[in-house]
Amino acid sequence: MKTYDIIVIGGGMMGTSCAYYLTQEGLKVALIERGDIAGGTVSHTDGYIGASEKQPGVDSMQGAESMKLFDEMRKTFDYDFEYATNENDDPIGFVYFCDSEFEFEKAKEQVAKNQALGIEQYAVDPYILQQLEPNCAKDLTGGMWVPKDGAVCPFRVAFGFVEEAKKTGLLDVFTRTEVLDIKQDPNTKAVQGVVTDKGEFAAPKVVNAAGCWAPFIGAMVGMEVPIEPRFGQLTVSEKTGKITQNRLALEYGYYLTKFFQDGERPIDPLVKAYNVCLNITSDITGNTVVGGCRLFRGFSIKSEYRIISAVAQRGIRYYPMLKDFNCIRSFAGIRPFSLDHLPIVSDVEEVPGFYMACGHEGDGITLGPITGKLISQYATGKPLQFELAKELAWSRWQGRDIAAYKKKEEENSKALKAVEEAYLASLEK
Ligand SMILES: Cc1cc2nc3c(=O)[nH]c(=O)nc-3n(C[C@H](O)[C@H](O)[C@H](O)COP(=O)(O)OP(=O)(O)OC[C@H]3O[C@@H](n4cnc5c(N)ncnc54)[C@H](O)[C@@H]3O)c2cc1C
Repeated sequence: MKTYDIIVIGGGMMGTSCAYYLTQEGLKVALIERGDIAGGTVSHTDGYIGASEKQPGVDSMQGAESMKLFDEMRKTFDYDFEYATNENDDPIGFVYFCDSEFEFEKAKEQVAKNQALGIEQYAVDPYILQQLEPNCAKDLTGGMWVPKDGAVCPFRVAFGFVEEAKKTGLLDVFTRTEVLDIKQDPNTKAVQGVVTDKGEFAAPKVVNAAGCWAPFIGAMVGMEVPIEPRFGQLTVSEKTGKITQNRLALEYGYYLTKFFQDGERPIDPLVKAYNVCLNITSDITGNTVVGGCRLFRGFSIKSEYRIISAVAQRGIRYYPMLKDFNCIRSFAGIRPFSLDHLPIVSDVEEVPGFYMACGHEGDGITLGPITGKLISQYATGKPLQFELAKELAWSRWQGRDIAAYKKKEEENSKALKAVEEAYLASLEK
């Protein structure tokens, strides 16, 4: 039987990053993916990276730490992962639009908190907003600018991790190979390896980097993992040229709805029914990519045409010139949503040799590097990359009532469904 120092389950952003950083520590690693590398959520996503789309504190700080690693990677990787930069080689930045005093106040609060943490972020008045994004609507209340946030090509980052890790000769990659079970010592519960549909592999350490499917892997070692799939959908326009100037423009409601606190946005019933908020970028290809939404649809990744209409409507609200362009395609994905809004990154005391690298919801592209780095430090007993890392540990769930978290999520999900159903009923009248 093939034997490794550590086996990583899942060839998405987290799994490939873990594989890379673990090989950098000199460990012999097997990466096991049931489909193809980057075939999961990481290829149904945008590639925006940064600290701003997260709650101030450990959440925004892990984003800032990961950005430092991206900066290192772009200098050291031979594999190009399309890190978007401007002529000064800086990331091109995010701009947020506030459509009410409520949103502008919330944005100012966020700016104050993140600035205190050393994250560069500014509240801007409507005049500055127009300088930053000349094509945006003229009647906005204000905005927020985050010059150091940027973008990458997500699946190229995953391929890049694999290609760079292979250079050490310490990585074996098994695609089209599904993990069916995890072997454990019956007395100590320590992991001993994995059982797959292609045979068994031995290792004293195993990483759960299975994204939305992490609960199924956790169940193999008796864990209840509080992660649910949270649906998102993006629409691509025909060639528009450069409508947005920054790497990403978003309505501030995008940030607020992520954390279920959007107040009452001044929006159309269609937009409300599908919980749609604008994020938009004119890509290097000349197409404009517009999103998005947050819904609970189980594991479905089927695009829905009403969401395309709602996204288009939101796009036109903020960039009126979009009304003259057609959509050419749409795609959807599921975010691995951890029920307390923070990823789970650590070892697992009750299952020796088992590690969690999952639950990154809408931030897994940003957080790929820091997650892999932290797992490599847990696995080798080295000091952790940043001081707040312990707040991401699995141990925070010990003693929590997971059923209560699930119930709350079900209520949120039902409330969203009720708004959608009321909208659909109104169409029939
Ligand atoms: C519409 C949308 C937009 C987004 N935009 C952004 C963004 O701009 N910036 C950002 O930072 N994040 C964004 N995200 C979030 C980001 O895409 C995810 O957080 C990230 O891709 C999760 O990576 P992962 O490695 O955890 O999961 P995945 O990429 O899903 O990888 C998990 C892998 O595990 C494999 N697997 C599962 N079970 C098994 C098994 N039993 N055996 C073997 N393999 C298995 C799966 O096949 C899969 O390939 C977005 C998400 C969506 C849906």
